[in-house]
Amino acid sequence: MILRPLERAFLPRSAGDGACFLLIAVCVPLTYMFQVTVIMPELHDVGSFWYTAVWLAGIFLVFNITSNMLACMLVDTSIKLHILKPPVDSHLLSRWHMCDACQTLVPPRSWHCEICNVCVLKRDHHCRFTCCCIGHHNYRYFFYFLLYMGLGALYVSINASIYLWYLHADYYWRPYTLLTVFVPALSLTVHASWENFYVVLYELNLLAFCMCTLLLVYHRPIFQRGAVMKERSTSKYDLGLRANMEMVLGKRMHLTWISPFVRSDLPHDGVNWEPATKEE
Ligand SMILES: [Zn+2]
Ligand SMILES: [Zn+2]
Repeated sequence: MILRPLERAFLPRSAGDGACFLLIAVCVPLTYMFQVTVIMPELHDVGSFWYTAVWLAGIFLVFNITSNMLACMLVDTSIKLHILKPPVDSHLLSRWHMCDACQTLVPPRSWHCEICNVCVLKRDHHCRFTCCCIGHHNYRYFFYFLLYMGLGALYVSINASIYLWYLHADYYWRPYTLLTVFVPALSLTVHASWENFYVVLYELNLLAFCMCTLLLVYHRPIFQRGAVMKERSTSKYDLGLRANMEMVLGKRMHLTWISPFVRSDLPHDGVNWEPATKEE
């Protein structure tokens, strides 16, 4: 595994990347503080079994969201031309193609990213939130970042729904609150208050949950077929569900949900791919 230098990993390549990264970097800690300091003490007795269990679940989710996001940004999945030489074998070499932007031969399934300005091994897409391309070596971290972000947003949305619409229904079930719900940014500008801010955080969590669910639903059939976004209409590299999952999550995939620090080597180097089927 090759890690990118910190200054390259954390330097957004476009204003859009920077804004999306900041949204996550600011909202995840704020949401966690909202959950721990505002919602939880009202839902459970401090120090009780459920308080501790919910608190530990929150820690686990935040740890996995942030560490998988950082791993995604730090693990280099781009083509390193100084260590990647075209194969001598003419059969393998025939699968390589020319990248006009890089002006070099690149392996099969490697595609150029206009934003990163580099070719990426088994490139899936460029992720705005992690400011990097998702490819062969960091797809595992992207997948868990998305999964835990979706679960975390769902977890906060449920708890915040109870807090807002049940425990504090007397305050939030008012006509003015509708303004807060439908135009949260405007309501904060007109009347900045903690109550309005909680509604904004609640809505950001609902939005994050919907986005993560949509992305997971969109990626599921591609992931299942062992493909990447550019190959989404083919099953050229489909080795069966288990092998396809192992190709992304590694040989110890059953443990990878615990943390990005669990080592799980990938069964392929990401360079010389052979189609699983005869179709070309
Ligand atoms: Zn290129
Ligand atoms: Zn990129």
